[in-house]
Amino acid sequence: MDFCNKISKISFEQFNKLPKTGKPNKNECTILSTIIQEIPDLNKFEVVALGTGTKCIGQNKMSLKGDILNDSHAEIICRRSFLLYIYSEIKGCLNKKESIFNVNDSKFEFNNKVNFHFFTTHIPCGDASIFPKNQDNFGNPLKIEKNEEVPTKKRKLDIYRTGAKCLKDSKEQDLHLDGDLYHKIGLIRTKPGRGDPTLSISCSDKILKWCYIGIQGALLSILLKNPIYLSTITLSGNIPFNKESLNRAFNARFQTEFNHFNHYFKHNLIIYQSSEEFEFKKCDEKNQLCPSSISWNKFMIKPEVAIEGIKQGVTKNKIGTKASRLQISKVELFRNFLNVAEMIQLEGFNKDLSYGEAKKRSFLYESAWCQLKCDVFKVWTQKDEKFMNFHLD
Ligand SMILES: [Zn+2]
Repeated sequence: MDFCNKISKISFEQFNKLPKTGKPNKNECTILSTIIQEIPDLNKFEVVALGTGTKCIGQNKMSLKGDILNDSHAEIICRRSFLLYIYSEIKGCLNKKESIFNVNDSKFEFNNKVNFHFFTTHIPCGDASIFPKNQDNFGNPLKIEKNEEVPTKKRKLDIYRTGAKCLKDSKEQDLHLDGDLYHKIGLIRTKPGRGDPTLSISCSDKILKWCYIGIQGALLSILLKNPIYLSTITLSGNIPFNKESLNRAFNARFQTEFNHFNHYFKHNLIIYQSSEEFEFKKCDEKNQLCPSSISWNKFMIKPEVAIEGIKQGVTKNKIGTKASRLQISKVELFRNFLNVAEMIQLEGFNKDLSYGEAKKRSFLYESAWCQLKCDVFKVWTQKDEKFMNFHLD
């Protein structure tokens, strides 16, 4: 079987195995994303993390305690579920169970060569989703047969539009003119959405960030010997797809040199499209977006279902308490980090540190991220420091 059909097949199989809770109803649609772990020596492919969802919360609903997810797009839920997976593998290693890691001098490294592949059922929001409508999947203009009656209007270049807005501080902005002049391509954007504006960055831009400094984030960078990069991205079949726009978004849009920063350097993604279709893909206007998100990884006995950034189904009086938190919330991932730090007696890390302070101690990661924001992206959302000040309770 083709590589990409294998990737989509095992992703759909994993999704189908999950219970119904949190999956779309008959007239609903959603996006599914997965991360597949490949161990080439064993020729083993396995879905280790999965996320679904299309929603994010507005800035007025953001929590100061790190207990509400801001961004519940499938791609982001999947990544957070993956982080939880990595913590479980690390704890497995410390508890002398079977694990993908070895520990050496308080740093965890893979004991086998491992590749990670990303799979998703929709073109990621933001820059990748801006591409001409009348081109084939490879960016070539669609052929018009001789003598074919085509209204001139249709021949005009039109593009898929996105509700993802450029950042306010960005020097460059969309022109909002006709046809392909509506959007400017290549820019960093926030996520699309109506109402209370979101501060969450589009999935295209977050995935691009992972291509530069890895998907593991600041805290895991303290524990891991090397950053974790994705090797490929596969999209499912029969959806608007454009290889050129995906290549631009992840591999080609910023030409500025990102200096090798220790072990951080730009990794390009190989782009595939499988022929298998997702059963809950958006197919027409009648379909509503499913409001909930599913978070799952290999070590979770039961997937968690999220709605508006917290556990679905919590009673009103439990909102804001521990019972409403998702395992992939900032504060719970932070708990995993501090647990490991305690287990390996990592100097300088204890419960008195705030989340923001702990992240800042990931010196190499933070300086690479700083350089990336300043020299390459030039702009990124400014989330107030106050959202980083929480402690473990
Ligand atoms: Zn998105």
